[in-house]
Amino acid sequence: MTTSLTAPVEEFAEWLTEFLPDDYYERYRQYRWDIRLRREYQRAAFEAGWIQPTWPREHGGRSLNLRDAMEIRIQAALRSAPKLPNIAGPNVAAPGIRQFGTPEQIDRLLVPLLRGDEWWALGMSEPEAGSDFAGLRTRAERDGDLFRVNGHKIWTTQAHESRWCTLYARTDPDAPKHRGISCLILDLHSPGVRVEPIRMASASDETFCEVFLDDVEVPVDNLLGPCNGGWNVALASLHHERQMIWIMNWVEIKRGLDSVRGTRDPGNYAELGSLLADAEALRATGYRALNNELTGRPTPEADILKLLGSVTLQRVWDLSAAAAGPASTGDADLLFERQDALAATIYGGTSEVQRNIIAERLLGLPKG
Ligand SMILES: Cc1cc2nc3c(=O)[nH]c(=O)nc-3n(C[C@H](O)[C@H](O)[C@H](O)COP(=O)(O)OP(=O)(O)OC[C@H]3O[C@@H](n4cnc5c(N)ncnc54)[C@H](O)[C@@H]3O)c2cc1C
Repeated sequence: MTTSLTAPVEEFAEWLTEFLPDDYYERYRQYRWDIRLRREYQRAAFEAGWIQPTWPREHGGRSLNLRDAMEIRIQAALRSAPKLPNIAGPNVAAPGIRQFGTPEQIDRLLVPLLRGDEWWALGMSEPEAGSDFAGLRTRAERDGDLFRVNGHKIWTTQAHESRWCTLYARTDPDAPKHRGISCLILDLHSPGVRVEPIRMASASDETFCEVFLDDVEVPVDNLLGPCNGGWNVALASLHHERQMIWIMNWVEIKRGLDSVRGTRDPGNYAELGSLLADAEALRATGYRALNNELTGRPTPEADILKLLGSVTLQRVWDLSAAAAGPASTGDADLLFERQDALAATIYGGTSEVQRNIIAERLLGLPKG
């Protein structure tokens, strides 16, 4: 299917061409990891209003509609635009701050975040509370005009390079699990915070960390949203990224499919055909979700998009490795793609949990 680009999407495409170095595609394998270029890209995109295209100018946008914003994201992904160096900032923390922040919080935090001057980490998961986010045990106890925080977070991506963290902690131990959680804006430089990077097997530059919190004092003014209302802050913050995450998966799937399209092994044909169909189903479902959103209907597609996108991505790179044969073991890029695709079925809700949600909430099946 070919559709003509609307004016804002064309403008973005021209801006991107102008921004990228002349030899960008020729030397993409190096540029992909070039943190200086990625930082410059974020700053320039903020100045030009492409960071959050639906937001107003002062918040890194152009007040565009959701459809244009989605097409811009698709263009960026199709043309392998530099990846934002700290995705959790603009795509997860920022929507939460905009929706729930006080004017003072928005004033202080939003622009440095969107320009990439201050990085953000997402403090949700704990050693015993990953899929079961509501079971988190980190506690924030009120003590005058501050909270005293004790606990332990894990898988906190880029915490070692971040200034701030949206920290979810239990503020009412007696309330039902998901009603006693609050979101605090934690300054990671505060006394009592210890950040320890976790060594990774993968080549990714998005290092996981553990964050240990020992009697950390967080001012009450740093509460994001209502006290004990952290569950809704988490849902709203993640909603924005969930609307768009399928695009990244779809473009990666297309890239993986291109790498196997020429396969001469008939043993791969059935899986290749099935993957081509799933990629198209993903795209069509993504557009259906957008239409539902634009017309104010519910968007139950989000969980299907997450599951289908991440599982298909994994299958694509598995097929690519099968098509390459023994040579695949020495191919560092392919190894990275396969490891990265494994992560896609875990973050933002594991495939098993997505299947539970689809079964129970969308299909109305009884709880297992
Ligand atoms: C690349 C990446 C980046 C991440 N970044 C962050 C971050 O910045 N901040 C953050 O807070 N977290 C982050 N995470 C953590 C992520 O949110 C958790 O890994 C995820 O929620 C799963 O939790 P867990 O690892 O504790 O696994 P568990 O919840 O312990 O699950 C273990 C296994 O049990 C299965 N399982 C669990 N519950 C059920 C159930 N009810 N039914 C069936 N099967 C079940 C799971 O599917 C999984 O296979 C990141 C993860 C990845 C991979």
